[in-house]
Amino acid sequence: MADLGADPSLGDLSRADFGELLEGEPAYRLDQVWEGLYVQRRPLAEITNVPKSLRRAIGELLPPALTLVRTQSADRGTTTKHLWSLRDGHLVESVLMRYRDRTTLCISSQAGCAMGCSFCATGQVGFDRNLRVGEIVEQVLGTLQEASSTDRAAPGRAVNSDAAPGRAVNIVFMGMGEPLANYDAVWAAVERFHDDMGIGARHITVSTVGVVPGIARLAAAGLPVNLAVSLHAANDRLRNRVAPINRTYPLRDLARALADYRRAKRRRISLEWAMIGGVNDSDRDAAELAAFARPLAAHVNLIPLNPTPGYVHQPTPRERIEHFAAELASHGVNATVRVNRGTSIDAACGQLRADKLVSIRKGSRPARGARARAER
Ligand code: SAH
Ligand code: SF4
Repeated sequence: MADLGADPSLGDLSRADFGELLEGEPAYRLDQVWEGLYVQRRPLAEITNVPKSLRRAIGELLPPALTLVRTQSADRGTTTKHLWSLRDGHLVESVLMRYRDRTTLCISSQAGCAMGCSFCATGQVGFDRNLRVGEIVEQVLGTLQEASSTDRAAPGRAVNSDAAPGRAVNIVFMGMGEPLANYDAVWAAVERFHDDMGIGARHITVSTVGVVPGIARLAAAGLPVNLAVSLHAANDRLRNRVAPINRTYPLRDLARALADYRRAKRRRISLEWAMIGGVNDSDRDAAELAAFARPLAAHVNLIPLNPTPGYVHQPTPRERIEHFAAELASHGVNATVRVNRGTSIDAACGQLRADKLVSIRKGSRPARGARARAER
């Protein structure tokens, strides 16, 4: 069996690992467990075609990595934020967004983040640790199970249950943390989503602030997942401040890595640009962004800045965002203005910080970034 580290949880095991664990059981048991967990997306206790004694033994050997602490809903119940406690008391969040024809799940790859982007609540709190594979996978399983039990309680909704096999599920690594700084666990989770849950590579998006070696690994990996890059500034002077990773991997290196990715995967790259009033929303910023995006044939997503506790700047006003999009178009670059979901429950892009229970968390560090920061 692969090295699973200490005290593995159910989600840490690949199908092959599980097969080894079930050695001595009839061969179809593995199919039953795996099908129940990953295709029907049911909790272990509800996979009733597997004997109860075996379910109990598996549950004792591989207890869950996550405990659901709280859910909060917004946007008339279509956006739900889940707060999870890890076994060591760290907290992470994930967000479920329901649309008419699909469900998008925004998940975390780290507890906190070390990248220090000034406008991001996760970055302001700082880094705790990387998540394990099971902690990433179980966010998805747990959220879908939770959604389906809510649906069962609401007659008429169960037909469209998010957990229903076949319903289109998109998974985006846009929660807490920098996925490419936790590459191995993230990639193992991607393979589980793809191989075992049947979620296509085009329904999985990895979002990065620009960790160039991680982009190179992704380009060499098997599945052509979508790549989103959080750019926010297209000149090194400003980007060094807004996204400090730029001091290590400046724009020129980033552009080269993205061109290689595109060549290797033949997938459209998207560039994320949080619209920060007076910081990155001038016509000159648009021209610089267009000069970066055009050679990559990248699509731009404009995200109105969401408020966070440690950042003084305001979002760009709506008309200015439209003007910025028009400027990009005049330079031959397509842009979409993102509609923010979950702002009222701090579930929108960059608002996840999971510090609500910090006061009762043993040995917790005080949140950094309490001092508000300014750019330019
Ligand atoms: N670390 C990865 C993924 C998590 S952040 C990354 O940075 O890409 C998910 C997205 O939210 C990123 O595009 C990030 O730039 C954006 N974001 C962070 N803080 C934000 C804020 N206050 N308002 C709007 N978007 C924000
Ligand atoms: Fe980390 Fe992404 Fe937030 Fe930057 S924007 S601090 S990389 S989570």
